[in-house]
Amino acid sequence: MNATQPPHIVYKPVTGRGIAVDVRSLHKVHGRGERAVTALRDVSHGFAAGSFTAVMGPSGSGKTTLLHCAAGLERPSSGAVMLAGRDLGGLSERQLTLLRRDRIGFVFQDFHLVPALSVAANVALPLRLAGRKPDAGRLDELLATVGLFEKRNRRPAELSGGQQQRAAVARALITGPEVVFADEPTGALDRASGRDVLALLRGAVDGMGTTVVMVTHDPQAAAWADEVLILADGRIVDRLTGPETTADTIAARMAALEV
Ligand code: ADP
Ligand code: MG
Repeated sequence: MNATQPPHIVYKPVTGRGIAVDVRSLHKVHGRGERAVTALRDVSHGFAAGSFTAVMGPSGSGKTTLLHCAAGLERPSSGAVMLAGRDLGGLSERQLTLLRRDRIGFVFQDFHLVPALSVAANVALPLRLAGRKPDAGRLDELLATVGLFEKRNRRPAELSGGQQQRAAVARALITGPEVVFADEPTGALDRASGRDVLALLRGAVDGMGTTVVMVTHDPQAAAWADEVLILADGRIVDRLTGPETTADTIAARMAALEV
């Protein structure tokens, strides 16, 4: 096996299983007047349920803005987002907050763990915020899955970056969300730790049927996905699926873009 390729062989079909997140004609302008910056221009895509999508593109191409609009963290200037059967544009801020808390998981580049809480308490936090009591068996199982059962009573500062990000992945999965959005989740990690995190995201897709949408600028990370979207200047300019999503092919398409 090529050491730069992830170990999965069975690619998920990206059609026919239903759409978990549907973005239609998204347009997003940040700021106003002379400072206005158009971050998304007419972006439409259906993210297939139970599939892993990587969003790539140069810095400033709109990746984070797309993720935030799709996840209901930012409202698009125009266009629509359907998630979990709801039109996000029709939801109040309160309804959006509840939807994000109960149905969506988030993983950020810099972990965003709560320093004062133990690893176990960080992972259980989304349930606590929802007023639900974490099932001890489920919490322990998830901690074991991410390789942190022994570290469950430690504070984040006592963990390596890779361990902290694995805790963040467990936190994103604890509610059994339909969709996990990850913005450069391996961006702050060494390659080996990054692979561990990617394997966990892949495992959530394959084992739990979770839909994962991950922003990355690393072709080797994107190669773990079933589908790769390439953004440039706020538009989707390329799309790779299935066996096309190898690190070499992705890198070549990205290079072609820069010419
Ligand atoms: P990427 O994640 O691909 O680097 P972003 O989505 O963060 O791209 O940004 C897309 C464009 O929108 C960039 O030109 C960026 O400077 C601009 N932008 C992003 N967020 C804001 C903001 N809150 N205010 C003003 N401009 C923004
Ligand atoms: Mg970004």
